[in-house]
Amino acid sequence: MSVLNRSESRAGVSPAHDSPADGFGGRRDACRTLPRPRLPSWLHFPLPTTAAFGRTRALLDELKLHTVCESARCPNHWECWSKGTATFMIAGDRCTRACGFCAVTTAKPYALEADEPQRVAEATRRMRLRHVVITAVARDDLKDGGAEHFCRTIEHVRALNPGIVIEVLVPDFNDSDASIDAVLKARPHIFNHNLETVRRLTPSVRSRATYDRSLSVLAKARQRGTDLYTKSGLMLGLGEAEDEVLRAMLDLRQVGCDIVTLGQYLQPTLKHFPVVEFVRPEQFEKLGERARELGFLHVASGPMVRSSYHAEEFSPKSLTG
Ligand code: SF4
Repeated sequence: MSVLNRSESRAGVSPAHDSPADGFGGRRDACRTLPRPRLPSWLHFPLPTTAAFGRTRALLDELKLHTVCESARCPNHWECWSKGTATFMIAGDRCTRACGFCAVTTAKPYALEADEPQRVAEATRRMRLRHVVITAVARDDLKDGGAEHFCRTIEHVRALNPGIVIEVLVPDFNDSDASIDAVLKARPHIFNHNLETVRRLTPSVRSRATYDRSLSVLAKARQRGTDLYTKSGLMLGLGEAEDEVLRAMLDLRQVGCDIVTLGQYLQPTLKHFPVVEFVRPEQFEKLGERARELGFLHVASGPMVRSSYHAEEFSPKSLTG
């Protein structure tokens, strides 16, 4: 496997800014003054609005549910909602962390809503989802980080939607064994926790989270979970080098991670980290191929890929049969 070195391997990219791409020191300030770069042609996409989009909107409003699609300003929002799917975000819409890439509001959270698990289950039923993705804000204000709330939500979703595939995308719970176990006891099928970026960039891109802690969370889920697939994702375009991406994927494989997603980072607002580069589709293909060679069971790699984008495409017989 030939691996380009760091200086040459911001590979297949269009520089989004002409500043050096080695890390993000000072970028938060710089991005306030720089106009956002024009999107390359491969990131121009239609915004399909269908009657289904309106129905998804109305259902979520009626049941007073949050989605990461909206809160994180996901670029696939129109497509996914128009297809009648969404990723539920539980435990409120206020996060206790302030990651430089994420558009979810940072503020003191409200108390958990005891009936939210039932409302997620009801939305799942009415949307006729066969594969549901449930995520949450980080709740460092709670002793268990919101893990029991995850557990209750999984249980309610399963009770009301027999046979459904349940995927959770969890925060790091500060690597608490008790919290990880609380989620696992509800037996999700897929346990997703995003590494988000390569080791070198983690301190400047993520808030409080650490690279090794995220690997530890995934390792514990793999060791303690039964009949479980683990999954993680990386954003590209933050200034990482190809060899660093390969290293991160290798680290994920070493903790037994089964599924990986690779997608283009897009700056949600001018207050967030700027895009350092637009990674070309062929580079995503190449990295996806490398991921398969590393042994991941399922790989999604492309500019528009997000953790939950087309999540239902991973459906081995053990989940559906
Ligand atoms: S990719 Fe995921 S977060 Fe984005 S709109 Fe689709 S379901 Fe929502």
